[in-house]
Amino acid sequence: MHLARFPRARFAHLPTPLEPLDRLTAVLGGPRLFVKRDDCTGLSTGGNKTRKLEFLMGAALAQGAECVVTQGAVQSNHARQTAAAAARLGLGCHLLLERRVPHTESDYETTGNVFLDHLHGATVTWHPGGEDMNALALAHAQSLRDQGPRAYFIPGGGSNPTGALGYVDCALEILRQADAMDLRVDLVVHATGSAGTQAGLVVGFEASNSGIPVLGVSVRQPRERQETTVHALADETARFLGVREPIRREAVVADDRFVGPGYGQPTPEMVEAIELLARHEGILLDPVYSGKGMAGLIGMIREGKLTRDQNVVFVHTGGSVGLFAYQHLFA
Ligand SMILES: *Cc1c(COP(=O)(O)O)cnc(C)c1O
Repeated sequence: MHLARFPRARFAHLPTPLEPLDRLTAVLGGPRLFVKRDDCTGLSTGGNKTRKLEFLMGAALAQGAECVVTQGAVQSNHARQTAAAAARLGLGCHLLLERRVPHTESDYETTGNVFLDHLHGATVTWHPGGEDMNALALAHAQSLRDQGPRAYFIPGGGSNPTGALGYVDCALEILRQADAMDLRVDLVVHATGSAGTQAGLVVGFEASNSGIPVLGVSVRQPRERQETTVHALADETARFLGVREPIRREAVVADDRFVGPGYGQPTPEMVEAIELLARHEGILLDPVYSGKGMAGLIGMIREGKLTRDQNVVFVHTGGSVGLFAYQHLFA
């Protein structure tokens, strides 16, 4: 595989740091924990969508796009990073936001990511929960094209083979950093939603025969469904890259025990994980994704599934501006 064969717009701050979490490791009693700081990708408070958007925006520019259309939940980090990337490249940005999450905070629809969407100059339309948002966004892109502007459609979460290339690149980056630190990585853990992050990581670690397993902590779908979606996208991404071997189904593993009542809905484990990282490491997680992802990792440690001499890398996928829409949960 050769990522330079694909058009790419450069705006992420890479490589992101790979750092030890010594205080958290001590508090939890091992294994040795490390964090891959993809909350520090640089664009508008960072996050994992920025790596995907380098390839998606590269494709959009290569096709002569004048604007991009995408969709997400109200507090979508993907929508915010897309709005920022479009601003950076001088493209228009149309966001379709879905009222997917029941909420009580009166400023949920104006603070955090929504505030930044507007600040970056995106055009926002609002939609009730439960609609086929990718179909709506595709139709919106088509209707813009009918009126003139060349619109490029980006699926929710930026999760298609083009976007997943960003996380193939991240897997290779983790390998380079770990080798330089003489760090043997035994497990990589992160929050999984629209599947592109896990699909890309799995392709990168499998195609390089690294032997590094990836665990996705689901924030939305039941395990079987999440694994099927991630595996399908991983296989498609591998073919897109020209990887000869199909991706093994067993290489895709998700844990759905930390979703709680549903996507974007709080759990006590998420609140505990956010407070632990804030108080012992000075790191901000987020309530929808990385807080539940870290809760999954803490849960595994408490179940005794990981030993003290193992090295675990948590990929921090960003999202901390979402904290402002959930302030009431914290003391
Ligand atoms: C989108 C997102 C994820 C999940 O990544 P997917 O590629 O959609 O699975 C994890 N964490 C944060 C903060 C996100 O915004």
